[in-house]
Amino acid sequence: MSKVNVLGVNFDKMTSQQFQEKFIERIENHKSTFVVTANPEIVMAANENPEFMKVLKEDADYITPDGIGIVKASQMLKDPVPERVTGYDLFVWLMKVADQRKLRVYLIGAKPGVIHAVQAKIAGQYSGIELVGAENGYFTEDLDLVANRIARTKPDLVFAALGFPKQEKLLSILRKEEVPALMMGVGGSFDVFSG
Ligand code: UDP
Repeated sequence: MSKVNVLGVNFDKMTSQQFQEKFIERIENHKSTFVVTANPEIVMAANENPEFMKVLKEDADYITPDGIGIVKASQMLKDPVPERVTGYDLFVWLMKVADQRKLRVYLIGAKPGVIHAVQAKIAGQYSGIELVGAENGYFTEDLDLVANRIARTKPDLVFAALGFPKQEKLLSILRKEEVPALMMGVGGSFDVFSG
């Protein structure tokens, strides 16, 4: 699959629709899939943090260009990505897919009030979703323990809204253990979705 390297991060050169088709295929086949939606801040942070860069290089299955800055950079490299593909748009789309297909979803992140509001929204508007976990992002345990708790619920989809690099570190543990879910870090998406 074609990729473009922007400051060390390999972005997939796919449209939103192409990403969606791949994700559906992998969900149907119960493949462990770690998606990173990387904006310019994430690219810069990875360049300053070798451990985080390693997660992006070795653990991520797909990296989407989440920001016009990445699209512009790829154009300057004369190897353009087709379009911006944001974490929030993918999150909302995946929640609709989960609702239609009655998927098992685990949500972790944001403040307690926000995650409660997200739960209420799901109960009202996405009642097909089987919510197997919803917890706030201010836990104090090690990420390994949290990853273990998530894996035990056998989710199809895992969304972590912890900000980077914490959310990517957590999801890379699940990916290394080949938990058969599609997992994605979604930054501030729960805050937006709950409103
Ligand atoms: N957050 C969290 N736990 C933390 C730090 C942050 O759950 O230890 C949440 C925060 O409440 C917000 C989300 O992570 O809902 C994204 O935070 P931020 O906007 O800083 O990240 P970005 O969207 O820039 O990646």
